[in-house]
Amino acid sequence: MTPAPVVSSTAPLEGLVAVVTGGASGIGAAIAERLRADGAKVAVFDLRPDGAEHADLAVAVDVADDDSVRAGVAEVAEHFGRLDLLVNNAGIGAQGDVAANEDAEWHRVLDINVVGIARTSRAALPYLRRSPAAAIVNTSSIAATAGLPQRALYSASKGAVLSLTLAMAADHLREGIRVNAVNPGTADTPWVGRLLDSAEDPAAERAALEARQPHGRLVSAAEVADAVAYLLSPRAGSTTGVSLAVDGGMQALRLRPA
Ligand code: NAD
Repeated sequence: MTPAPVVSSTAPLEGLVAVVTGGASGIGAAIAERLRADGAKVAVFDLRPDGAEHADLAVAVDVADDDSVRAGVAEVAEHFGRLDLLVNNAGIGAQGDVAANEDAEWHRVLDINVVGIARTSRAALPYLRRSPAAAIVNTSSIAATAGLPQRALYSASKGAVLSLTLAMAADHLREGIRVNAVNPGTADTPWVGRLLDSAEDPAAERAALEARQPHGRLVSAAEVADAVAYLLSPRAGSTTGVSLAVDGGMQALRLRPA
C-alpha cells in the first residue's frame, strides 16, 4: 500500500505546481498569493499578465484560444517539470435578461466561462494524471443558484460551471484527481469596483451593496482564496464534486445579491 503523503501544516502545498487562470487580478490574484504562501509554485495565466508579480511565472494566455492554452501549459511543464493543481478562475460578466444579448455574446461568454474550463483542463490533464496530489477548483458564483435578475447569460455560464465540476469529479475520481468548485458571493475585486465606479454615486452604491449582504460587507478575495487553498490541499483528500459557498450566508438564507 502506498504510504500517505506527509503534509506539512505550515506549507501544505510544498513541492506542488499550480496554474491559476485569471490570476492577474481580484480573486485569482488572491488565490495565487495564497497558494504561494502555502508552498506551491504558481503560474498565472491571464490576458494581461503584467500585474502578476505575485506569481512565479506569468504567461499571456487567452482561455478562449486553444493554441494559447496549450502553449501556456507546455511552458509551465517546461519551466517546472510538472503540474499538480489547476484553478479555473478566469471569467467575465454579462448583464441583462435572456433577450438582452445576441448569439455572438452568448457564445463569447460561454466560451470563456465554461469552454475555457474544459480547454484548460484538457490541456492540463496529462500532467495532472502523473501527480500524486492532483486537484482542480473551478470558480462558479452565487449567480449559479440565486435566480439573479438581469444576469441571464452570466448565471447560465456559472450554473454550467457547477454541472461541469460534478461531471469532472466523477470522470477523474479513479485517476486520483479531485475536482471541486468555489461559489463566491459579491466579492471586493476590481470587477465589482468597475461596476460601482459606473454608478452615479459610487460610495452610496457601495454602502447599499454592503447593506444587502447578510454579514453587512462584501466577501474578500482572500476569503475565497482560503477556500480554494483548502479544496486543493491534501487536507481535502476525501472531498470531490462539492461547491463551497463563500458568500456570507447568502445561499443559506436564500437571498440574492441584487
Ligand atoms: P477580475 O476582473 O478582477 O479578474 C478577472 C481576471 O480574469 C482578469 O485579470 C482578466 O484579465 C482575466 N481574464 C478575463 N478573460 C480572460 C481570458 N479569456 N483568458 C485569460 N484571462 C482572462 O474579476 P474577479 O472578480 O476576480 O472574478 C474572478 C472570477 O470570480 C470570475 O470567474 C468571476 O465570474 C468569479 N466571481 C466573481 C465575483 C465577484 O463578486 N467579484 C463573484 C462570484 C464569482
